[in-house]
Amino acid sequence: MPVVWDLPDFDDHEGLHLFHDKPSGLRAIIAVHSTQLGPAGGGARYWHYAQSSDAVVDALRLSKGMSYKNAMAGLPMGGGKAVILADKTGGKTEAKIRAFAGMVESLNGRSVTAQDVGMTAQDMTEISQATRHVCGLTVAAGMAGGDPGPSTAFGVFLGIKAAVARKLGRSDLADVHVAIQGVGSVGGGVARYLAREGARLTLADQNAGKAEDLASELGCASVDASAIMQVDADVFSPCALGAILNEATIPALRAKIIAGGANNQLARSHHGNALLNQGILYAPDYVINAGGIINVALEYLNQADKAAVDLKIAEIPVRLNAIWDESERSGNGPATVADEMAKAFIGR
Ligand code: NAD
Repeated sequence: MPVVWDLPDFDDHEGLHLFHDKPSGLRAIIAVHSTQLGPAGGGARYWHYAQSSDAVVDALRLSKGMSYKNAMAGLPMGGGKAVILADKTGGKTEAKIRAFAGMVESLNGRSVTAQDVGMTAQDMTEISQATRHVCGLTVAAGMAGGDPGPSTAFGVFLGIKAAVARKLGRSDLADVHVAIQGVGSVGGGVARYLAREGARLTLADQNAGKAEDLASELGCASVDASAIMQVDADVFSPCALGAILNEATIPALRAKIIAGGANNQLARSHHGNALLNQGILYAPDYVINAGGIINVALEYLNQADKAAVDLKIAEIPVRLNAIWDESERSGNGPATVADEMAKAFIGR
């Protein structure tokens, strides 16, 4: 059986902590990829894994992603990720959440946790009873923290503007056509920002009624979710699922820019170069969607206010332009360039 150092997803991780709390039945993993820039920040995911080794792989992969994301967001934070293994019996009990909080606390601030898939804001509040190394808590109005969705949407909006300026040579969004896939917390927010600046929108959501309702509110079009990637728009903004950019979908794209909030948009890393070869400007997902982590990181690090969060989010387009400059210079796709920059920031 391969030990963790031999796994393909092991990337010189600083630590992999496996926890078991017998009374509550909790099994959890906290992966610390890098603390080069600060405490290893990343969400806690509650998920059912077919085998516990899958949970280890997920923790390794996701914590590395957080190192890159936090570094590219210019945050004094390293990268980590917690995975709580769901079991078929018992579910996510308060006792398990409390036990998990104790595990986070035992790492003495080396790792900072936050909400991810399967966890709730209430779970974060519960965790905060036992450790201060948690963020994304309910905060007073005007302060950093709370729901990351609106901050993510703001960063994606600024990223789209930067991409439009670069690729289309336009400083305004009037009549620029943006097709948005998924109009939830992030995509819905992006649509509202864009509508305010006069962009022409086409919306789609798996829940068709949701897209239709927002389209009628904003006075724009909606299409079936199966058609959104082929819309003849200036910008395609993926704000729903990962792995949507692949062999099957890339040749059919008609947009000149891809800039959206979804995580892990490229099915495989080489698809970044496929976009480049097709003349499409790509905004690397973890760079453009960092608004949410900026919001909760500033809550944890210095209890900043929303104005400070927005100032930091305003650096996203600057970072994107640096990536696109280097992409033009080197001939590598922006996703590859972003990874290389992130690695340099964390000394890898
Ligand atoms: P959400 O659940 O609020 O919204 C997602 C929307 O996408 C839903 O309305 C859903 O119906 C729709 N959807 C799902 N599958 C679809 C499909 N095949 N076609 C069209 N629509 C589909 O989630 P969210 O918080 O808006 O997150 C959206 C994406 O952004 C996710 O990939 C998430 O990981 C990523 N992200 C979110 C944040 C954040 O702060 N919320 C931060 C970084 C990245």
